[in-house]
Amino acid sequence: MSEKGVLALYWAASCGGCEIAVLGINEKILDVAAAFDIVFWPCVLDGKVRDIEKMDDKSIDLCFFNGAIRTSEQEYMARLMRQKSKVLVAFGSCAQEGCIPGLANATTKEAIFQTAYHDTPSTVNPDGIRPQTETEVAEGTLYLPFFYETVKTLGQTVDVDYYLPGCPPEPERIWDAIVAILENKLPAPGSVIGAETTVCDDCPRTRDEKKIKEFKRTWEIVPDPDICLLEQGLVCCGIATRAGCGALCPTVGSPCIGCYGPNEGVEDFGARMMTALASVIDSDDPEEIDRIIHEGIPDPIGTFYRFSLAHSELRRIALPANGGSDAKLETAESA
Ligand code: SF4
Repeated sequence: MSEKGVLALYWAASCGGCEIAVLGINEKILDVAAAFDIVFWPCVLDGKVRDIEKMDDKSIDLCFFNGAIRTSEQEYMARLMRQKSKVLVAFGSCAQEGCIPGLANATTKEAIFQTAYHDTPSTVNPDGIRPQTETEVAEGTLYLPFFYETVKTLGQTVDVDYYLPGCPPEPERIWDAIVAILENKLPAPGSVIGAETTVCDDCPRTRDEKKIKEFKRTWEIVPDPDICLLEQGLVCCGIATRAGCGALCPTVGSPCIGCYGPNEGVEDFGARMMTALASVIDSDDPEEIDRIIHEGIPDPIGTFYRFSLAHSELRRIALPANGGSDAKLETAESA
């Protein structure tokens, strides 16, 4: 890395929380500015894509890329930042796993558009107009990005060097990653930068034998302040979730929802959670097990794949028989 490194930050399909998390390192942002020339950060600085396009390949030392890939513009930017960056970090859960934008894979583009442009109570659209990717106006042609059928992670789109988990990553972990980069103490390429333990390992609650007869929703009980929430029947995902947050949620009585992603070695977060819960249900009777699960976990995708559906083995619901709108795009592009 040159004496002063070159840094870029970009966001794709995300909520903006990752950008705020970067600023959560507080005055250390001045150290970042001292160590790097920040050449691109659309959320904070005025910058133009064409300026990045003109840069030499690999002339950006480090790019923090947050957000999933939902549109053709985001895919273009992912490829551009990959081409221009030596080290590309999938920053946060959306880039790593798809996160909340990835839950759109539980439906279809058509259903999303139908809801957004026709069915919501606040929508007034008597002509049934939908956004078009090309619109002719007097001044020329206006373009909008193509909205993909399936949300992808950054790693499903381009090669990623490192993953920084979290929704969003905790500022302390962001700073740890920056220090590791500055001191050239990064783990092997492809690694997740962070802990290899689970949220349970950081959780101060006492644990005993888990025997669950009934799962409860958070609003149904006031949990004991000292005992493991899972033992009290709350679906706490700490058992499958990578440490890094300091077990903030279970410490204050709220079950871990898995925003730090799967623990080291776990391929599919939801499968790991389902296995863990299956092992603590206190029954041998299939009908009773069925009842415990169905009554206590009414939203399995939201419970087990809230952050990781796009990254999971399931990835998405089955597409329409015609392959969905991405198939039409591929046909158009190859024509
Ligand atoms: Fe693990 Fe959650 Fe129990 Fe804490 S409350 S020990 S995070 S399962």
